[in-house]
Amino acid sequence: MTQVVKARRHPRDSLLRSERLPHIWCPGCGIGIIMAAYADAIEASGIPPEKHVCISGIGCTGRVSGYMHLDSFHTTHGRAIAFATGLSLVRPDLEVTVISGDGDICTIGGNHLIHAARRNVDINVIMVNNFNYGMTGGQHGGTTPLGAKTYTSPYGNFEAPFNIPYLVAAAGASFVARWTTLHVRQLINAMKRMMSVEGFSFIEVISPCPPTFGEFNNFPEALDMMEYFRKYSVIDHNADLSKIGIRLQGEPLVVGNFVDKRRPSYQELVQETIRKAAGRESV
Ligand code: SF4
Repeated sequence: MTQVVKARRHPRDSLLRSERLPHIWCPGCGIGIIMAAYADAIEASGIPPEKHVCISGIGCTGRVSGYMHLDSFHTTHGRAIAFATGLSLVRPDLEVTVISGDGDICTIGGNHLIHAARRNVDINVIMVNNFNYGMTGGQHGGTTPLGAKTYTSPYGNFEAPFNIPYLVAAAGASFVARWTTLHVRQLINAMKRMMSVEGFSFIEVISPCPPTFGEFNNFPEALDMMEYFRKYSVIDHNADLSKIGIRLQGEPLVVGNFVDKRRPSYQELVQETIRKAAGRESV
């Protein structure tokens, strides 16, 4: 007798555009884990999905905005934070989240990143860091560790990379965290927290990219980098951020929720300035 097997719906199916699946990501890529964590955080946030907006730039991670069943925007390269800033200013009722890769957020889009943190713009930024430009074949970028090999650094990268949590915290962000794709529960909680913080909230998520970064750096199989995360990750919420740069050569990989502080957001300051200006005019 033929048994009919019915496909069950996943609890997060309503947050995905299933007609766009299967996705384009390589086997072993960490972006799917991060997208699923984002969906879980939306569910846990208590903010209705119709109030969430997902914005991405260009690159493998940029596809997230196309797969999420939310109001979403797939913007030009490096400009996702600029777009999110504008949207959050005119629609402060929306929960605006940028999710994009390291090349997009901090290399091509680095200027927007530091100024959004400086202004404490009330948006969320999830930066997937896989240490290279994966979609275009594996060029090195602003987060490629010293000595790491890529197609454009075949003898080992000699450019000092950004220590992103240190940079964003120094610029003034209200919430700064770093997790890996192994720390799913902590990642969901950090995303949930960032959605409740008023001010610039930033999470760096370290993620495997087996075919373009892993292949050249001793992480060729899907689980190699996850094994590295398991072995070398150290949770330290009070870490000295100046000392948490990443080398991937057997040193501790420090993760945690590093900054969670209150200071007025850009939107609050804009509203205050408008109130003061209106008061002066009525005098
Ligand atoms: S190239 Fe890397 S980042 Fe892009 S989909 Fe493949 S594994 Fe993921």
